[in-house]
Amino acid sequence: MSFGTGDSRRRRGSPKDSASSVDIAIVGAGPAGLLAAEMLARKNSVLVADRLPVGAGKCCAGLLSAEALSFLPGLGDDAAVFEEPSELELVSVVGGRLLPGEAFRNVDRGALQAWMAARAEAAGASVVRTELKSIAPARHSWNLVLDDDKLVLASVIIGADGYNSATRSALGLPPAPVVAARQGIFEGRLEKAHLVLDRDEAGIHYCWAVPKKCGILVGAAVAAGAEGAADFPEGALRALGSACPGFETGAQLAGERGAFTRVRSVDDIRLGLPGAFLIGEAAGLVLPSSGEGLGGALASAAAVAAVLLEEGTAGAGLGRPGSGEALERYRERISPRVDRIAADLSFLEAFEAGRI
Ligand SMILES: Cc1cc2nc3c(=O)[nH]c(=O)nc-3n(C[C@H](O)[C@H](O)[C@H](O)COP(=O)(O)OP(=O)(O)OC[C@H]3O[C@@H](n4cnc5c(N)ncnc54)[C@H](O)[C@@H]3O)c2cc1C
Repeated sequence: MSFGTGDSRRRRGSPKDSASSVDIAIVGAGPAGLLAAEMLARKNSVLVADRLPVGAGKCCAGLLSAEALSFLPGLGDDAAVFEEPSELELVSVVGGRLLPGEAFRNVDRGALQAWMAARAEAAGASVVRTELKSIAPARHSWNLVLDDDKLVLASVIIGADGYNSATRSALGLPPAPVVAARQGIFEGRLEKAHLVLDRDEAGIHYCWAVPKKCGILVGAAVAAGAEGAADFPEGALRALGSACPGFETGAQLAGERGAFTRVRSVDDIRLGLPGAFLIGEAAGLVLPSSGEGLGGALASAAAVAAVLLEEGTAGAGLGRPGSGEALERYRERISPRVDRIAADLSFLEAFEAGRI
């Protein structure tokens, strides 16, 4: 079965069909992909493909910045999404110096994504579990091959597939640098969330501690070469212990491994090609000093969706005269985030060089 872009509200694509066509194919049902889907599905046929069940296995501390929250106006105080304590101050300690605290909300990441997926589906998007295998340009559409060899034709592709983005590499764009991370839940209590950047004889430590209902969530970026080590990085626990008043952990109750994109220069940020947009972590829009990525994921999703709603997907799609302009307008809209990342990179460079 195949159906075209003209009558998007009545007919929707599914990779279970031998070949289907949609206005917009979104790879990745993380926060970026789901917000874009919700915003775009009211006017377009939208397929969201994710290789995992929505929200499953995502390693995240669940701190939602005020910027990120501003893109989720319907979130309200939904108890199922927020963790206790639901409002937190995040204190940053850099080289032993306390920086002004910032207000964050404390969310259960899986619950947040379930809530976003329900909104995207209610708007008309199809969220399906399947993996992107390849992308090839055709005359006026992209051909996406999914893991069951099903072919989807899409006027526009949105790559929202996080670190090591398969969309980004399928488009022939250079990969963004990635760092490994560890998180664990430890017994204990802590009043404020802490982000610590510190150094000792073992090297530089990037670590965080967040109070959760069931204990303290402790996380750390893992030094290159130590990704396979079995234990939680001791140096990170020591750095947190000396930087956070009252930080004391008991037994480790759970642990997980993750990774995030950490750009080394703004050249590592790639927003896509005409007709194929990268958003969120796939684009590299994560603050390198803290790993804060939800703000960039949601800001870029909203920016691309706004451009596509203004241009119409037929105009912004592959091979159409407006497709390059749409990419340029996305670049303009997301430039405040890119500028913020550039400033954060300078800060990080100063810290790593020992000037802070
Ligand atoms: C340990 C850790 C803690 C963090 N804590 C915070 C925090 O507290 N606050 C914050 O703001 N940020 C935090 N971040 C960063 C934040 O989680 C990410 O930046 C954010 O999730 C990016 O959202 P996204 O939608 O761009 O990508 P993701 O949330 O990574 O979603 C990408 C989706 O794409 C899917 N996918 C990947 N490849 C394919 C494929 N080939 N085919 C189909 N689907 C695919 C994945 O399964 C995934 O669901 C943390 C990151 C880590 C690693």
